[in-house]
Amino acid sequence: MNILVINCGSSSLKYQLINSETEAVLAKGLCERIGIEGSVITYQPADGAKEVTESPMPTHTQAIQLVLDALTNEKSGVIKSLAEVGAVGHRVVHGGEKFTSSTLLTAEAMAAIEECNDLAPLHNPANLIGIRACQELMPNVPMVAVFDTAFHQTMPEEAYLYGLPYEYYEKHQVRRYGFHGTSHSYVSKKAAELAGKPYEEMKTIVCHLGNGASLSAVKNGKSVDTSMGLTPLEGLIMGTRSGDMDPAIIEYIAKKENLDLAGVINVLNKKSGVLGVSGVSSDFRDLENAAAEGNARAAKALAAYNYRVAKYIGSYVAAMNGVDCIVFTAGLGENGKATRKDICAYLTFLGIEIDDEANSVRGKEIVISTPDSKVQVMVIPTNEELAIARETLALV
Ligand code: ADP
Repeated sequence: MNILVINCGSSSLKYQLINSETEAVLAKGLCERIGIEGSVITYQPADGAKEVTESPMPTHTQAIQLVLDALTNEKSGVIKSLAEVGAVGHRVVHGGEKFTSSTLLTAEAMAAIEECNDLAPLHNPANLIGIRACQELMPNVPMVAVFDTAFHQTMPEEAYLYGLPYEYYEKHQVRRYGFHGTSHSYVSKKAAELAGKPYEEMKTIVCHLGNGASLSAVKNGKSVDTSMGLTPLEGLIMGTRSGDMDPAIIEYIAKKENLDLAGVINVLNKKSGVLGVSGVSSDFRDLENAAAEGNARAAKALAAYNYRVAKYIGSYVAAMNGVDCIVFTAGLGENGKATRKDICAYLTFLGIEIDDEANSVRGKEIVISTPDSKVQVMVIPTNEELAIARETLALV
């Protein structure tokens, strides 16, 4: 069966068509600037040239229509007709406490997702728009929602409760949810395969280091803690997000900089992180280059970033009373060999030793610790789209 995987944001939409038997990506691409002038669709068939076409997309329905047109195009399409799409898998950011696993998108499920909108006002409404647009264009194709939060719903109370009045949890569902769950789940399972150990008997720490970044502690096949919280703002220092800080800073900065609450939160989400510290970029390639050329603030940003990751790893060793395996994934986790090396340098107390040659290999699953290392350290490329396709297949 061919499964169309859709990751829909407010003005952009990523897609992949995946054959569920071979798990091959038949085609992929993205629509950008939906609802804005100058919309562009990128389409890349598996064995053809990438096509970038400017085309008006006033709504998500038009964007998805263009995706379907590209997939079925006589010349460069990869399927003859829409009858060859057996199911659609949608990434949905927030499932609150309602969704502990992926779900078939019935009318009831749609209503329940809508009830989670307040928890992710920037993401969930956009995800729902994408789902509705697909339902309109493919009314008879089964659709599945795969949630970023679902994998972390196994966290125990002591990990998800904040030190706040308990009624905020009861009345407003204020608690830790965590994100990147599809990636943490996929990568922790792969780590068990690579280690040759049963997933249900492993203690793994997954470092998902991309633009957004989060760590998870996965014990006996279940997420027991993760660094993002009610929203993706908590935890690590990220590309542009602050991560953990003293919450009193919000009021202090609002007064000093004459900003309202929304203004400060915008700074914490979009102008902070390594971008804010360095003043150079949120991209680690730019930061590494700048630091190598002697830019002191870029070096400080990298140092603070690595320190925070190492500190979280230490806390998750305590949370699980041990660790068998630490895995790096996502853009920086998969490519940033200096980042991995610097983070692991904090962890020699765990008996970790990195093999520099293995740490330099790119683009494949690999153990980067030495055979003598007490904890295995791995790089495992994440594949959220494939994970969504697998979940979708399982439900349809
Ligand atoms: P997301 O999916 O969250 O948008 P990615 O997982 O694609 O992000 O990660 C993007 C980040 O990965 C970029 O900001 C960049 O800093 C980092 N990255 C990608 N390639 C490299 C590289 N070769 N060296 C260092 N960092 C890299």
